[in-house]
Amino acid sequence: MKIAASSEMRLIELLHDLGIPAEAVFLSIDEKLVPETASVQKGQEVEIIYYKHVPPLSSPQEPRGHWKRAEYSKECAHCKSTPVIYLPYANQHLCSKHFKELFEKRVKRTVREYHMLNKGDNVGIALSGGKDSYALLHTLSKIRESLPFEMVALTIDEGIPGYRDKAIENARKRCEELGITQHVYTFKEEHGTTISEIGKKGKENLCSYCGVLRRKILNTKARELGLNKVAIGHNLDDVAQTAMLNLIRNEPLRFARFNEPLIENEKFIPRIRPLRNIREKEVAAYAFLHGHQYNSGCCCPHATSALRWSVRHELNSLEDQYPGTKSKIASSFNTLQKIVKDSVKEKNLKLNSSKEC
Ligand SMILES: [Zn+2]
Repeated sequence: MKIAASSEMRLIELLHDLGIPAEAVFLSIDEKLVPETASVQKGQEVEIIYYKHVPPLSSPQEPRGHWKRAEYSKECAHCKSTPVIYLPYANQHLCSKHFKELFEKRVKRTVREYHMLNKGDNVGIALSGGKDSYALLHTLSKIRESLPFEMVALTIDEGIPGYRDKAIENARKRCEELGITQHVYTFKEEHGTTISEIGKKGKENLCSYCGVLRRKILNTKARELGLNKVAIGHNLDDVAQTAMLNLIRNEPLRFARFNEPLIENEKFIPRIRPLRNIREKEVAAYAFLHGHQYNSGCCCPHATSALRWSVRHELNSLEDQYPGTKSKIASSFNTLQKIVKDSVKEKNLKLNSSKEC
């Protein structure tokens, strides 16, 4: 969505005038990423890029708390280059090069912290063609330069015309560029139907149903290919949202199941989440800086989880006012996970495999 500024103003003011949390979008001028702290001239065109479902516009608001004080810097915190992103929780402007470096450093730290990868691992990346899996593919390729492990991409075609076709084509191109073998599996071949066909039959909870079928294919194929881990593109927002949803739905025992690596039961290949400490906005920006294209048709037409959607919007607003909120929720979640796990009997934690896989 392109907007022309009605007067000279800071980009954060332009966003908040529209009722859009800075956390939900990133901005570009002349196809270059710009921090929200920057100012625009009257009439200058700004592209607002949503990286997820388009949120409803909340009522206009004045920039509050942190954003009120955040000042633009013409230079990156580490060099003289023009910044492409502002990190509110660190009060730091970064150029493309230094942002990518920081991003990769943080993913590496997460991988080390949770012992996600070891030399000689055989990893399958769940590559949907979306921004998260694309960013994951790039960072893991980088990490592989210093930690040798095998890696293939696993792409699943749920059969959603107009939505998945393009993403699969993107995924194929990325793998070619990076020299990574890609395996594509379709719902049609593996389950004898497509998600659109299931949708037409009026199946409820289509998203979770689709997720279960997708995980099942990933697991079966990973096993067939002799992989010992599957990497998925979950980011900090996913973790914080899940934590809040567990509270809202009164499912505290779910805290214990969210371990790292994610092992649902012995039949599942462990899943690792190297992006779990990184805000979705930064994942989206990192993918953008590596050439990932965003368009309005980016979202699954069947996406229906209304509650998660509200939680996402609230967390984005909170993060705007109190930078670091998502990270703090995720940390609390980790602490609770350990406490719950230690105090609840194992048998209560096991998922019903026939239902969930
Ligand atoms: Zn720099």
